[in-house]
This record gives sequence, structure tokens and C-alpha cells, in this order.
Amino acid sequence: MNFNSYVFPFSKKEYIRGKKPDVECILCAIVNNDNRVQSLEILRTENFILSLNLFPYNNGHAIIFPIRHITDIRELSEKEDIELARLTKSYISLLEELYKPSGYNIGYNLGEYAGASIPHLHLHIIPRYQNELGVIDLIGGAKVLVENPLETLEKIKKHIKNKHS
Ligand SMILES: [Zn+2]
Repeated sequence: MNFNSYVFPFSKKEYIRGKKPDVECILCAIVNNDNRVQSLEILRTENFILSLNLFPYNNGHAIIFPIRHITDIRELSEKEDIELARLTKSYISLLEELYKPSGYNIGYNLGEYAGASIPHLHLHIIPRYQNELGVIDLIGGAKVLVENPLETLEKIKKHIKNKHS
């Protein structure tokens, strides 16, 4: 394993996208395959997109967001609730096969005072790992360490492909 390519410290301000893309809504840009935005889309269903988070807290940190631009969970229809729940469950199963996390944090940040940096509704799925602290200790000082999400995306896509072929 090439350690340097596998893990790297990051801060929210730098890395992948460099400058903030000049788009009105970064998630709508992903929906529209706007090439000004680095897309980490894993797959889309009828009404949702499953995508890795551009700023992963952990390996496999993903978001699920509705294709239409809404800002509040109460705007989701019952049909969409079901679709979202199914997608959430499938993704957790996938993570379990691929990364074997010890737990998950799943939730929304609704409103900017709650830490929502993007108004477009999105559900975070953050896998948690027993050895998180160990890795952080190893590097000493770096707050969070994660695999490059582009590598994670490759792995996940390969895994899905293998499962369905
Ligand atoms: Zn949007």
C-alpha cells in the first residue's frame, strides 16, 4: 500500500475542488452534470442521487440528495421517503461489505445555523471506525484523515459492478 496516496490530511478549505465552483447550487450542478463541479456521484435513482461527500469526514462518507432542489425534509413526499430509506439501507450494506465500519452517523443539517453549508437538502451517511483515533494519532496533529474520495468512488463503483455482473 502506498501510504501517501491512501491517506491524506485535509482541511475543508483546500483540496479537490480548489476554488469554490461558480454555480448557484453545487448539488443542482451535480444533477445537471455541470463540468464546473467535481462530481462524486455513485448512482442515481428516480428521485435521488447518492454521492460521496466532497469533504469526507471518513472513508465512505456519502450524501443522498433529492434531484429537485428542496431545502426541508417536509417537502419530501411519502414515495420519496421510501425511496430515500431504501437507498440509505443499500448504501449501508455496501459500506459494510467494502469498509466494515463499526457504526454510522446518519442525519441532516437543516438551516445554516445547524451547519448546513449547502441549502439543497442532503442526508449525510458517515461511517465510523473503531480505529479512527489510532490513525489520527499516527499522523499527529492532523484532525481527520481520509482516503481520496476519487479512490473511494472507484472502489465503490467496482464493487457495485462486480456484484451485479
Ligand atoms: Zn440545488
